[in-house]
Amino acid sequence: MSATSNFIDTYVAARQKSAASYRRASAVLGGNVGHDLRYFDPIPLYIERGLGGRKWDVDGNEYIDFLMGNGALLLGHAHPSVIDAIVSVASRGTHFGNDHLLQIEWAELIQKLVPSAERVRFVNSGTEASQLAIRLARAFTGRNKLLRFEGHFHGWHDEVVHGFQLPFQADGSRGVPPSVRDNLITIPDGNMALVETRLSQDPEIAAVILEPSGASYGRVPIDIEFLRQLRTVTTKRNVLLIFDEVVTGFRFSPGGAQGLYDITPDLSYFAKVVAGGLPGGAVVGQRDIMSLFDHTGKSEKDRFERVTHFGTFNASPLSAAAGIAVLGQVASGEPTSRADAMASQLRASLNEVLSRHQIAGYAYGPSSTFHVYFETNPERLKRVSDREDLKTSDARLLKGMPGALITQYQRLLRFHGVDIMSSTGGLLSAAHSETDLGEATVAFEKTITALLDEKLIYRL
Ligand code: PMP
Repeated sequence: MSATSNFIDTYVAARQKSAASYRRASAVLGGNVGHDLRYFDPIPLYIERGLGGRKWDVDGNEYIDFLMGNGALLLGHAHPSVIDAIVSVASRGTHFGNDHLLQIEWAELIQKLVPSAERVRFVNSGTEASQLAIRLARAFTGRNKLLRFEGHFHGWHDEVVHGFQLPFQADGSRGVPPSVRDNLITIPDGNMALVETRLSQDPEIAAVILEPSGASYGRVPIDIEFLRQLRTVTTKRNVLLIFDEVVTGFRFSPGGAQGLYDITPDLSYFAKVVAGGLPGGAVVGQRDIMSLFDHTGKSEKDRFERVTHFGTFNASPLSAAAGIAVLGQVASGEPTSRADAMASQLRASLNEVLSRHQIAGYAYGPSSTFHVYFETNPERLKRVSDREDLKTSDARLLKGMPGALITQYQRLLRFHGVDIMSSTGGLLSAAHSETDLGEATVAFEKTITALLDEKLIYRL
């Protein structure tokens, strides 16, 4: 029996209730899980509770959590201020379908924190926010096409579901009409000349959309100068610039990536941290664009000259309460700088481990994120002898690590008590402690030692 199959037996033995839950789930849930990233071989996690930087599964296994509600929990699990806010609002009723004062307070906080947020419109998720921002851009410019970048994720809706995973030109899902591609131009990021060529060739482009962190919350690093040039060029050509701040919002700085880099997009959208760990999102932008939502008072015009937008749960009182609780604290700058400092310390510890074991790989990432790249390409392994020289911004390399390596890395980390967000990376919160980082580093060292034994990663 191989080392891997022995390990999987041990892994499953520590997860008997989880295994039983998976059998139940398989008889009732489409695809057996609730989100494609939660699917996991041999069994997904079934989490019972969380506190601060940790969570526990139904079998009592404890995890240092770098998934953090897919990045939504900047203050950590079950932060008392968020729980209190939710409980006090819930006791008055959970949902009215009417506007309410918490929505206004929530929007005012966003307006105060985010440089480009002259007006705010709430939605229920990052995917909805992305749909609505694209609709606004099209309505405002009277053009239909979108210039987007390979590897950048903008939610799961039809228009953008392809292009973020390798191979970037492949369909992202079955069931998407091929016609959506007619309105999309997908190119690698970082190449300003290519952006200019595409913009000049195609007068139908309404907007350029991107993750200002670089693709997949910074897994593929992006040059800030490229972001600045994008701002200049889109302004010059009268094309809108849309920042997808679903992850970066209120995390990279209290004003998101746009606050950190001092670049003001025309439109941007938020989810995750904005709603304090509850479902929610927001599209924000300049007043003239956002005025497309305005009612004219003339019923025919109202129907045909506006951007329409509905949504039963938009700015639900519970999400508003949680959002206000978190953004009120974000305003001080303390949660973002604490999470940043923890992540920087973690990246340094992981790099120390990788260097000590002479692994062909490195840890990196902006703000409160971390990612690990393992070099597995035989040609590059032959060529490169210094860890520094492994560093790359090539999305095909950074997103192209072998699936078997990623799965075993995630399994081993979980087995040693660490859960991450996706691929090899994750996000930190203001609640993570030095102890969490120390224990996570030990788990990481055990993980890479096993991966070396299994010849899934290599020494330089
Ligand atoms: N954009 C980015 C950059 C994201 O990371 C995500 C979610 N991971 C989304 C959009 C979609 O957000 P949601 O899952 O809330 O629909």
